[in-house]
Amino acid sequence: MAEIRIDYEVCTSCGVCAEVCPYGAIEMVDDKPKVDLNKCTFCGTCERECPVEAIKIEGKEEEAPAEDLSQYKGVMVFLEPRRDGSIAHVSYELIGKGRELAQKLGVELSGVYVGAPGKEDIVKDVFPYGCSKVYYVSGEVFSPYRTYPYGKAVSEVIKKFKPEIVLFGATTLGRDLAGRVATILETGLTADCTELDIDPERKLLLQTRPAFGGNIMATIECPNTRPQMATVRPKVFPFPEKVNGAEGEIVKVDIQVSEDEVDTKVVEFIEAKSEVNLQEADIIVSGGRGLGKPENLKWVRELAEILGGAVGASRAIVDAGWIPYEHQVGQTGKTVRPKLYIACGISGAIQHQAGMKTSEFIIAINKDPEAPIFNIADFGVVGDVNVILPKLIDELKRRLGK
Ligand code: FAD
Repeated sequence: MAEIRIDYEVCTSCGVCAEVCPYGAIEMVDDKPKVDLNKCTFCGTCERECPVEAIKIEGKEEEAPAEDLSQYKGVMVFLEPRRDGSIAHVSYELIGKGRELAQKLGVELSGVYVGAPGKEDIVKDVFPYGCSKVYYVSGEVFSPYRTYPYGKAVSEVIKKFKPEIVLFGATTLGRDLAGRVATILETGLTADCTELDIDPERKLLLQTRPAFGGNIMATIECPNTRPQMATVRPKVFPFPEKVNGAEGEIVKVDIQVSEDEVDTKVVEFIEAKSEVNLQEADIIVSGGRGLGKPENLKWVRELAEILGGAVGASRAIVDAGWIPYEHQVGQTGKTVRPKLYIACGISGAIQHQAGMKTSEFIIAINKDPEAPIFNIADFGVVGDVNVILPKLIDELKRRLGK
């Protein structure tokens, strides 16, 4: 049974413990910290942060690893097949990050590809980006994607080749599969990471993602089970540089899944009709509540059209029903990395920034000079967006002869 002890002789009543407790379990009463045991989880934050070491947590059982973790070596990326079997962009982005992690650990970077037979040439395409090996599982049962056969194939490959880290794209397919694999392997999974790194001393994967509604960035570790698994949304990491001449090995892995084992059938595939391809756009013009009313989105649409770009939006105007969700940029919308992002009447809340701050060049138009969007903008215009946009459109039309 865990206990928390405070040495009041040593305590200086600084109040740091009450400030840092993530569960609000410590209150300063008469200048002394008082712990509410109904709220305390014995997480150890107060013990770590107390500047005079007046707090001790005792009797908390450390979870011991269930197996020898040193047998796990290497970084593996799930190479997500698109409907035609080609590999999704996000997998290349993860190869770029995976290469960096593998270098820090001094281990090999591999890929795992599952799909219809005859895709060897497609698979070879990842070698110049840093994968030195691809574990290749093929069979008719693996096309199109279904959770059960893929879950079985990927988890069997992991059990056999024991990578210490496995990365998946946070796409519809990747999210579905990673959850299934984590459950089969009884290991941890951190979804929607925005940064991945290696702890230099403990060699653990540091998985950073927004938490508590995006108000803090939490770094999550998986110290007791393997592999350490994470999903990352498309465009969070850049597309990696090609290393010309780099070669690799395709390792064919025979995993049998019979159609009788699979209880789902794909009856028909109906492609979603969407004209919005924010994640591929080089230029995005986004509108926010500062436009004042839905009709004023016409300026955003017109500017996007003149520049050959796509239309984005803040959640405020999506929630208000001005524009469909597929246009939303941000933590709960799309992550984008265009060459140019123009934010029109958007405050730049942390949740919006989470989806666009890695854009190459950001222009912000906002009437409030203190708006947070200006902290990340390369070029800022302080003024009324509904006055500036029509003028900008007229000037562009004149210069471009449109
Ligand atoms: P506001 O915050 O209302 O800002 C409007 C801005 O327009 C202000 O800066 C104002 O100065 C300016 N303005 C007003 N009038 C004019 C004018 N005439 N000319 C020029 N400027 C003007 N938000 C997202 O965008 N994407 C997400 O994915 C997302 N996910 C979220 C997830 C969670 C869990 C939570 C809690 C919130 C999320 N949000 C998200 C919401 C986010 O916190 C903000 O509320 C939202 O981004 C605000 O949208 P906005 O900037 O359009 O509106």
